Amino acid sequence: HAKQRGRARFELFEPPMRKLADQRFRLESELRVAIERGEFEPFFQPIVALPTTHHAGFEALVRWRHPQRGLVSPAEFIPAAEDTGLIEWIGMQVMQSTMRQVAAWRAEGLWREGWYVSVNVSGVQLRDVRIADKFAALLRQYELTPTDIRVEVTESSVIENKDVAFGLLPEIKAHGFLLCMDDFGTGYSSLSYLSELPFDVLKIDRSFIHEISRRSELLVLVRTVLGLSRELGMMVVAEGIETEDQQTILGDLDCGYGQGYRFAKPMPAQDATRWLQEALPRQIAA
Ligand code: C2E
Ligand code: MG
Ligand code: MG
Repeated sequence: HAKQRGRARFELFEPPMRKLADQRFRLESELRVAIERGEFEPFFQPIVALPTTHHAGFEALVRWRHPQRGLVSPAEFIPAAEDTGLIEWIGMQVMQSTMRQVAAWRAEGLWREGWYVSVNVSGVQLRDVRIADKFAALLRQYELTPTDIRVEVTESSVIENKDVAFGLLPEIKAHGFLLCMDDFGTGYSSLSYLSELPFDVLKIDRSFIHEISRRSELLVLVRTVLGLSRELGMMVVAEGIETEDQQTILGDLDCGYGQGYRFAKPMPAQDATRWLQEALPRQIAA
């Protein structure tokens, strides 16, 4: 009978589905505990000026310091955190820890004005109409300048939350934070958003950089994006620079800034402090 067969088939698929749901549920409750314990911390990856490779800023990249599993990378928990809305709390922890760290660096005399940390903000966080005020309140708490912190959002997260994002991004900017469009080129790439939204920085996704020395069409694309940004008065960061070749090509193209393993991997605060200790004298001499 059709009904019975249908049912048998359903049961065949039930256990794995169930297992997945169980895993998600366990991850969600683990995330809640981790938020309460404050187990999320930013790592810092340098962004350098090209062609000098002088330090320009950091990107804050969240890591979950799990008591048993060790360091967990964002790919393993951000999607679940976004689905459950828990990203709001994690995002605020990352923003707060980042600001606390910048205040500490400044107090230690390791901060040069103009340097910044760029913080990733999920599209889910852009549904909170008070987000701009919350960031501004933290800024006051740590007595920072808004240019110390930049806000990174992906092209797709803006488009998926269009109604709110179109109101909130100008509000965030009105507080003085610069806005970065992350992973440019991977999303809908609707060029019209570039001119409609007040972005200051464009981050070219690493998929364009990865094979730039071997595929001439990528070179053409990147050169075109750089020309466009210049016209729009935007700064550009090339993501995922790994080789000397890539660094040279982007420097020759007049790409203002670069980020990638070629310069440094994301590192814990202690190592980032050491990085700044070395960056500071090098740039004062220059
Ligand atoms: P993203 O914002 O585009 O960050 C860049 C990612 O590329 C980071 O991965 C970084 O470690 C990696 N990367 C940097 N240089 C290189 C390179 O030369 N080669 C290669 N292969 N990779 C490189 P990570 O830290 O695993 O983060 C992955 C993504 O997770 C981020 O992509 C961002 O979308 C998200 N994410 C990270 N931290 C946060 C956060 O605090 N909040 C939110 N909402 N999302 C975050
Ligand atoms: Mg980013
Ligand atoms: Mg990116």
